Amino acid sequence: MARKFFVGGNFKMNGTKESIKAIVKNLNEAQLDPNVEVVIAPPALYLQLAVDSLTKEGVAVSAQNVYDKPNGAFTGEISVSQLKDSGVHWTILGHSERRTLLGESDEFVASKSKYAIDNGISVIWCCGESLQEREAGQTIAVIEKQLAALAAKLTPEDWKSVVIAYEPIWAIGTGKVATVEQAQEVHEAIRKWLAANVNQTVADETRILYGGSVNAKNCKDLAKQQDIDGFLVGGASLKPEFVDIINSNQ
Ligand code: PGA
Repeated sequence: MARKFFVGGNFKMNGTKESIKAIVKNLNEAQLDPNVEVVIAPPALYLQLAVDSLTKEGVAVSAQNVYDKPNGAFTGEISVSQLKDSGVHWTILGHSERRTLLGESDEFVASKSKYAIDNGISVIWCCGESLQEREAGQTIAVIEKQLAALAAKLTPEDWKSVVIAYEPIWAIGTGKVATVEQAQEVHEAIRKWLAANVNQTVADETRILYGGSVNAKNCKDLAKQQDIDGFLVGGASLKPEFVDIINSNQ
């Protein structure tokens, strides 16, 4: 089954009302490949602004995080029902910046993913190894451990609501993109792991994105790889070249 190409823009803790309006306007007016699913993830404070100003078909809005409890006494957190109330049906979870800077464990990320999926929010679930882990030859083992924590919580059906983003930590925001071979190797390993540990349908149908210093120049070669089904884009998603990345699979 053909997997629909998917491009996510992770704005991280960047932007103002003005700059986010300008990015959305650019997307509304751009010629986008209709065969691509696009999601933009502005900071929580600007989710509603993005939802209200987006008119482009095929472009949706994602949160960058969500909590695994219903509404209640959880200061500083945002609930799944609040996202849905604001017209947001996606969230990123397990980004390496949250795993490393905020100490989110594999289990916590998996628990939040399950909670989000059970309550109608699709998840861009991130995984990836550090430079130290790569140099120690542990890349695949690290990714498999992260995957195992997620798979332990999900039913095969739940995977329909998951997009995986493989983001080597050493490539994020560094300008040091993984080579096409490095990325394809890990994507293929993820797909094989899904086939062996979930089932073949989930392996065939789950989109696996690459993230880490993707830009308009390097995206085309990456997009050609068999197991690369799109991108999660940080820095370049704030710039007009995001449109070229969306259209990289044409
Ligand atoms: P980058 O970030 O494109 O700026 O490297 C990617 C990400 O962290 O999702």
